[in-house]
Amino acid sequence: MTTVEAPSSHLKENPWEMARSQLRQTAGQIGMEDSMLNVLLECKKCVAVSVPTRMDDGSVRVFEGFRCTHNVARGPSKGGIRYHHEVTLEETKALAMWMTWKCALMGLPFGGAKGGVVVNPKQLSVTELERMTRRYTTEIINFIGPEADIPAPDVGTSPREMAWIFDTYSMNKGYSVLGVVTGKPLEVGGSVGRVEATARGAAFCVREALRKQDLSIEDRKVAVQGFGNVGSNLALILADQGATIVALSDSGGGVHSADGIDVRAALAHKRETGSLEGLAGTETLTNEELLLVDCDVLAPCALEQVITGENADQVKATIVCEGANGPVTPEADAILDDRGILVLPDVLANAGGVVVSYFEWVQGLQEYFWKESEVNAKLNDIITRAFAETWRAHEERSLPMRQAAYALAVGRVAEATTTRGLYP
Ligand code: NAD
Repeated sequence: MTTVEAPSSHLKENPWEMARSQLRQTAGQIGMEDSMLNVLLECKKCVAVSVPTRMDDGSVRVFEGFRCTHNVARGPSKGGIRYHHEVTLEETKALAMWMTWKCALMGLPFGGAKGGVVVNPKQLSVTELERMTRRYTTEIINFIGPEADIPAPDVGTSPREMAWIFDTYSMNKGYSVLGVVTGKPLEVGGSVGRVEATARGAAFCVREALRKQDLSIEDRKVAVQGFGNVGSNLALILADQGATIVALSDSGGGVHSADGIDVRAALAHKRETGSLEGLAGTETLTNEELLLVDCDVLAPCALEQVITGENADQVKATIVCEGANGPVTPEADAILDDRGILVLPDVLANAGGVVVSYFEWVQGLQEYFWKESEVNAKLNDIITRAFAETWRAHEERSLPMRQAAYALAVGRVAEATTTRGLYP
C-alpha cells in the first residue's frame, strides 16, 4: 500500500481562520453574546477517513477524505464534495460554515456541511474514481442520509459521482434512497435545472445588481474565471442575455477578445482540444491577467483567494460576482469596498445550486418531479427575495453586501439555536 500525501495548500490565508474571523466580525455587528458565538465558531462534527482504493494496475492507493458538518439548527446539513489535490480539513470546515450561512440566507431548512477527498481526479481512470467514490461513501455512510447530511457536487465532482454515492448508500440500505444526495443525473432522481442552477442564480444576482444602477446585462462586458460547471454556464446564460463575454479561463489559462467570445464555440473548442488556448479570434491571457481586464462584471468561478490585497486595487469591473466560494480575501474586500466596487458575495451569488438541490431533495422525498420552468421560476423567487433582503440590510445598516448577508444569515441561525434551546 502507498499513502498519497497532501501537498501544501495553494491558499494564502487559512480559510477556517478567515471564516471564523468573518463570523466574529458579524457577531460584533449584530450584538451576539459570546455564549452563542462560541457555539457557532465550531463545527458540530468532522470526520477524517482513509480511503484505500484499488488502482487498475492492481496496486492500492490510500486517499484522505473528510466530511464536516458545521451546524444543524435549521435542518439537516447540506454541502458539496470536493475532489482536489489541495483539499484540507481546514478548507472543508470553512466551506461547511459558509454553507450554514448560505442555506440560512436562502431561507432553506438546512444547516451547512462539506466533504472532500485529497485527490487529483484527472489522474485517476473512471473505474478508479468509481471505486474511490464508493469506498469514501462507505466510510462516511453513518454520517450522511436524507434526514442527516446530504452531499452534492463541488469542484472535481459531478452528477456521475453523485449517482455512485446514491447507489452505494442505497445498496447498503437495501432500497433506493433518492434524498441522500443531490445533483444526481436526471435518470436517477436528479432535478431538471440543477446543472445550470448555480450559474442561473448568479445571473439573477447580476441582473438585480445592475437594476440598482438602472442598467441591464445587455452589452455589459463580462469576464469569467473558471470554465467548469459554474463558469461555463454563467458565461452561456449572460451571453444569451446579450452580454459581451470578453474573457474566459480554466486551470490551463485564459482567452481574451474585446469584441466578445462565442461561448458555445469556446465549449466546443475545449471539448475537442481539452483547453481554451488557441480559440479562434482570441488572444491568450493568464488567470492573473483575467482578473484585471477591462470589464463591467467580473465573475471568479474557480477557486478561493484569487482577488487579494495584491491585485484588488487593479480590478476594473464595477461588479464582482462570486461564483466560486471565497474568491475574494477580506483584505481585498476592504479595498474593493473603498473603491466603490460592488461585491456580490458567494453566500448569495452562488446559492442557486443549493436552492435547486433543495428542490431536488423535496422532489425525491415526494417522488414527484417538477417541470424546468417551475424549477427556474421558484429559483428566481428565492434568489430575488434573498438579494432584496441583503440589499435592504446593506443600505439600512451601511454594510458591504457580504457583511449584510452574514448579518441576516448568522442572525437566523442564532435565532433557531436559541428557539431550540441547548440539549440537555
Ligand atoms: P468545476 O470543477 O466544474 O470547475 C472548476 C473550473 O475551475 C474548471 O474550469 C477548472 O479548470 C478551473 N480551475 C481550477 N483551478 C483553477 C485555477 N487555479 N485558476 C483558474 N481556473 C481554475 O467546479 P464548479 O462546480 O464549477 O465549482 C467552481 C466554484 O464554484 C468552486 O468554488 C465551488 O465551490 C463553487 N460552487 C459550485 C457550485 C456547484 O453547484 N457546482 C455551487 C456553489 C459554489
